[in-house]
Amino acid sequence: MDDALRQLIWRRAGDTCEYCRLPQQLDILPFQLDHIIAIKHHGPTSAENLALSCYNDNAHKGPNIAGIDPATGALTRLFHPRQDAWKEHFAWDGPELVGRTPIGRTTIDVLNVNLPERAEHRRLLFQAGVLRPG
Ligand SMILES: [Zn+2]
Repeated sequence: MDDALRQLIWRRAGDTCEYCRLPQQLDILPFQLDHIIAIKHHGPTSAENLALSCYNDNAHKGPNIAGIDPATGALTRLFHPRQDAWKEHFAWDGPELVGRTPIGRTTIDVLNVNLPERAEHRRLLFQAGVLRPG
């Protein structure tokens, strides 16, 4: 991957995770470039198929492109940062991210966005006023 493409992804995302909206400067682990459709599923290394992801989200997402909606048990695709509107699928309930749609619920579940230590990290950042839900 060339530097220009890498820089485009970081700039487009505003140095913020496109799944959980955590800025890189407020996280300890280096963010990664996520293949939204994983290479193993023939996703290209292109601006349209790359998203900036925090380490935790990318590590849990792995090559997944779908999961099971925890509310219905239905096979559901994951959130696609290039094609889906974040606010349509997600909302904050304090430091917990809530899925507003099957895609939102499934993505939160597969990416483990609400692991207790991750929610506690966000709670502290919200409380300190350095991160705002949204
Ligand atoms: Zn994230």
